[in-house]
Amino acid sequence: MSQPEKGFVYLVGAGPGRADLITLRGAELIRIADCILCDKLANPALLEHARPDAEIVYVPKRIGAGSFTQDQINQLLVRKALEGKVVVRLKGGDPCIFGRVTEEVVALNKAGVGFEIVPGVTAALAAAEYTGIMLTDRRYSSQVAFITGREADGKEDTNIDWDVLARFPGTLVFYMGIGALGRIVERLTAHGRAAETPVALVADATLPSQQVVRAPLGAIVDACQKAKIEPPALIIVGAAAGGDEALNWFMRQPLFGKTIVTTRDAAGNAEFAKKIRDRGARPIEFVTMAIQPLTDSNQFLRALTHLADYHWVIFTSPNGVKVFFDAMTALGKDSRVFAANKLATLGAKTAAALAKYGIKADLVPTVFTGRELGWQLVAFANLRGKKVLSLRSELATDDLVDVLLKGGAVVEDVPLYTAVPKTGDPEALRRQIEDGRINWLTFASPSAARNFFDAIAAGVVNASRAKVASIGPVTSEQLKKLGVRVDLTASEYTTDGLLDAIEAAERPA
Ligand code: SAH
Repeated sequence: MSQPEKGFVYLVGAGPGRADLITLRGAELIRIADCILCDKLANPALLEHARPDAEIVYVPKRIGAGSFTQDQINQLLVRKALEGKVVVRLKGGDPCIFGRVTEEVVALNKAGVGFEIVPGVTAALAAAEYTGIMLTDRRYSSQVAFITGREADGKEDTNIDWDVLARFPGTLVFYMGIGALGRIVERLTAHGRAAETPVALVADATLPSQQVVRAPLGAIVDACQKAKIEPPALIIVGAAAGGDEALNWFMRQPLFGKTIVTTRDAAGNAEFAKKIRDRGARPIEFVTMAIQPLTDSNQFLRALTHLADYHWVIFTSPNGVKVFFDAMTALGKDSRVFAANKLATLGAKTAAALAKYGIKADLVPTVFTGRELGWQLVAFANLRGKKVLSLRSELATDDLVDVLLKGGAVVEDVPLYTAVPKTGDPEALRRQIEDGRINWLTFASPSAARNFFDAIAAGVVNASRAKVASIGPVTSEQLKKLGVRVDLTASEYTTDGLLDAIEAAERPA
C-alpha cells in the first residue's frame, strides 16, 4: 500500500464502553496510525495498541481548560494530515451516530485530504444487548428511533417532532439525554405518551460500572435522581425497555460489578485483569513485585554451555520461559539450543509459552505443584543416573528437586529469575479497602502476600468487608502466618481456578 503524500484520515468507531468491541479494521488502524485524536468516550485502553511513537491527542469537547471546540478539532485533523501523517480520529461508538462527522468531512474535503469511515458499535445497541433489552422484537417493536436529547431543552434548533415520537409504535433511544431527562419526559407526556410506558436508563453500558434504572415514564425522573445516574447514559423508551431477564446475560454473571484486586507483577496483573474483566468484574492491578532475570549468572551460563548433557529440562512457569528466551535472543540463539533435550513443564500455560517459540513439550502433566510434577516425571521416565536441569524462580521451594533426587536423577536447579518487592500506591488502595469499595483481594503466591502486607497492614484488611482469596494452600499458609483472615483457597491452583472459586462464593445460593 503506498502511503499518500498528503496523509490520510480514518474516522474510526471505537465501540462503546469496553475496549474490545471495536472492529478488526479499527484495531488495525490504531496499530499503524502516526497520530490519534481520541474522543472522551473512546476507551483509553484502546491506545495501548498504538505504536510507541504515535502521537496521541485527547480532544474532549467540554467546557473548560484542555477542551476543544469542533472547529479546533477539524483544523487539527487537517493539519496533521497535511503533515503527511496517517491520522486516526477515534470516536466513541459509531463515528456517524451523533458524531459530528459531517463537519470533519467538510473540512477534510476542502483541504483535499482523503478519508475513510470505519463503522463502530453504537451505544444504543450495546446498552440494549448488555441489559436484556431487545430493541426490535416482532411482538412489540418493529421500529427503532435514535434521537438526540440535546435538543429537548429548546436551546438548540430542533428537528424533533414530539408529536410523532409520542405516538411512535416502537422503541425510542435518546442519546445525550440525561441532563434533559425531565424535559424529555414532559414533552412525551404532553404529546400523549402514557405515563405507564416502560423506560430504562443505561449508564456506562458494557463496563463493570454499568447501571440500569427501570421505571415507568411517570416515575423515571425520581428513580434516576435516587440512583444518582451520571453520563454517559442512554434513555430507552417503549415496551422493549421493560427488558427480559432471560436475556440479561451480562448483569447476571456472579462477578458482575465486583471489584477484584490483583497482586502480581505487572505482566501477571495485566493477564489476570483481562480474565477478571471477561467475567464482568472490575480489576484493580496492584503491583507487588518485579521479575528480575538472573540469566547473566555464571551458573546459568555454565548450564547453557552444557545444555546437550541434560536428558530433561524443566520449566515451571511462563515467566521462566519468557526470561529464558529473552536471554537466548540477547545471545543470538534460538529454540535449537534444546535440540538434544526432552522438556517437561508445570502446567499447560507453561507449555503454551514454550509453544510460542516452536517447542512442543514432551511431558505436560495436569498438576499444579512442583512436587506433583516431580512424581509424574519420575513415573514417566526412568531418571536413574540421568541429568535433569530445572529452570525456575529463585524463590521456588525445594519439593521438585527433592522428588527428582529420590527418583535417582542428577539434578541441577538453576534460578532463572527472582521477584523483587515493588509496590504500587498503597495509600490509594488502603483507602478503597477501608471505604468498603473492594470485594476481593487475590494472592497468587506467598511472595505476593508478603510484599502486599508489608505495604498494607493485615488489620486494615481484616477489619474491612474485602474478602481474601488465595490461589492454593502454600499461599494460604503464608497469609495466615501474616495474620490475615483467608476467606477462600482455590482448589485448582491457577488464576482461572481462583476466579472459579470466587465466582462460586458469590453465586446466590
Ligand atoms: N457516536 C456515539 C454517540 C456519541 S453521543 C455512539 O455511536 O455511541 C454521546 C452519547 O452517547 C452519550 O451522551 C450517551 O448518551 C451515549 N453513550 C456513549 N457511550 C455510552 C455508554 N457506554 N453507555 C451509555 N451511553 C453511552
